[in-house]
Amino acid sequence: MTQHGTIYRVAGPVVTATGLSPRMYDVMLVGEEGLMGEVIKIAGDKTIIQVYEETSGLKPGEKVIDTRHPLVAELGPGLLGSVYDGIQRPLPALMETMGDFIHRGVTAPGLDRKKKWKFEPIVKKGDKVSPGDVLGTVKEFYLVHKIMVPPKISGVVEEIHEGEFTVEETVAKVDGQNIMMMQKWPVRSGRPFGKKLLPDIPLITGQRVLDTMFPLPKGGTAAIPGAFGTGKTVTQQQLAKWSDAEIVVYIGCGERGNEMTEVLSSFPQLEDPKTGEPLMQRTVLIANTSNMPVAAREASVYTGMTIAEYYRDMGYNVSLMADSTSRWAEAMREISSRLEEMPGEEGFPAYLAARLSEFYERAGRVSNHNGTAGSISVVGAVSPPGGDMSEPVTQNTLRIVRVFWALDSKLRERRHFPTINWLTSYSLYTSGLDAWYRENVASDFPDLRRWSMEVLQREAELQEIVQLVGSDALPDEQKMILEVARLIREIFLQQNAYHDVDTYCPLPRQYKMLKLIKRFGDLSTKAVESDVPVDDIIDLPVRNRLVKSKFEENIDEELEAISKEMDKQFETLGGKA
Ligand code: ADP
Ligand code: MG
Repeated sequence: MTQHGTIYRVAGPVVTATGLSPRMYDVMLVGEEGLMGEVIKIAGDKTIIQVYEETSGLKPGEKVIDTRHPLVAELGPGLLGSVYDGIQRPLPALMETMGDFIHRGVTAPGLDRKKKWKFEPIVKKGDKVSPGDVLGTVKEFYLVHKIMVPPKISGVVEEIHEGEFTVEETVAKVDGQNIMMMQKWPVRSGRPFGKKLLPDIPLITGQRVLDTMFPLPKGGTAAIPGAFGTGKTVTQQQLAKWSDAEIVVYIGCGERGNEMTEVLSSFPQLEDPKTGEPLMQRTVLIANTSNMPVAAREASVYTGMTIAEYYRDMGYNVSLMADSTSRWAEAMREISSRLEEMPGEEGFPAYLAARLSEFYERAGRVSNHNGTAGSISVVGAVSPPGGDMSEPVTQNTLRIVRVFWALDSKLRERRHFPTINWLTSYSLYTSGLDAWYRENVASDFPDLRRWSMEVLQREAELQEIVQLVGSDALPDEQKMILEVARLIREIFLQQNAYHDVDTYCPLPRQYKMLKLIKRFGDLSTKAVESDVPVDDIIDLPVRNRLVKSKFEENIDEELEAISKEMDKQFETLGGKA
């Protein structure tokens, strides 16, 4: 049953209406054009609505319709490969009907109503099913898309149909209810799951500094704060491309004026290294640019998260990327100020921290009722104005997430990419993942990591001395530490996203590289103890070979060869022994 009210006041994206008795977060159709909006505050007889579209021209007196439904996402086959705005309107479809500018009041469904999908049943008539159970499957590009019993429905399968269906046609009947492939779910509520599992399996990204130094587990949360141009987008795209998650949900909140074209043109061109096909075939892209209304941007992270949860429920690993969450927080700030709420720090609403934590809490690796396990790993970019990490969005995010990849403008100036600062970044999951690394990579993997971090720490200390007295004043043993630290930085930490070989480094190779650097360090220390001059060690051809190895086509063979060569060359050095 719908209900009609009247516009009383318009303030930017916030519209006040009278004559309604709504529920919080119900969707309203505002004005003669029926602009979509959501109830965000109820004050006496006034209903305050955030509108997802440009509100200029709206006038008091125009009508408002209460749909009596919350904002929902449509879930079903056809999500993969889609590009949506913040309220799941397919952008290509919108642009086709309207050209480059999206007109107001246009609705287009999230899932194509005409497309037919081949549904293959898994259950039989008479089977008993409950929420989350898989009724059948549909092929969605490479993915087996599982059609699940929606939450709250359970009972006996009375009908089950094989064949080609649209998302709205009935494929099964359970407990007297017709079930179609499309489900709807209110975006602001998390979808139900069995229970949370320990985050003890890494999300493997092929990025050395991430996997080895500051690992993120499947189901973990990470923040990448960094000033403009430090590499947030490149890092997130690397994660989208290479991480071992089946599904990518990418929420792009444009940084600058008209970035619509940038997000929309760059992402669909990424290639999936696993299939050679477009990465979009396992991606859902939500594009939000600063020229779109703020309210849609505010909603976009929930829409993206709900879609991620849906694939998690099927038992898949999902990587959810938000670039950047600062734009989302700014949307909250703008809406809050229109509501004339008491501002908190730097004008952000007092509930900023709560919203951020509710969002990140929907991450996790979980067991599902259907017997599978799935995960959502969340990586949020943060773009602090001027790179000042003490601002509220960065600070509140860091209180919640457990991995901090700190991008550093100074490293960017030195052309050290990725610009992840190894001294300030951290992962609180490391110890929980150690067992996995020991078992699946090498028993001494955690020790090797610790060793390399110690060398880097020592380097930082020694550099302070060097700045005061120059490096010549250091004893040889300390000069050697600086040299080994340099190898760790230049060979291991630096990784060129645009180089064919270097762009992805499998875990066994990460281990081998670091192990070789350590061996070089150990042999050097011994040589120095035998009074071999540091310069002689640095001049060893094997050192140079090690530095260049990561760009070699046959890198693994090259590392083997270097390993064999290293002892030999150190033997030629002689020394007092
Ligand atoms: P941000 O999103 O933080 O503004 P970008 O991700 O767009 O920054 O990165 C800016 C530039 O830095 C890129 O265009 C690229 O030239 C360089 N860059 C960042 N990360 C890498 C990397 N891993 N390898 C090579 N170049 C990189
Ligand atoms: Mg960027």
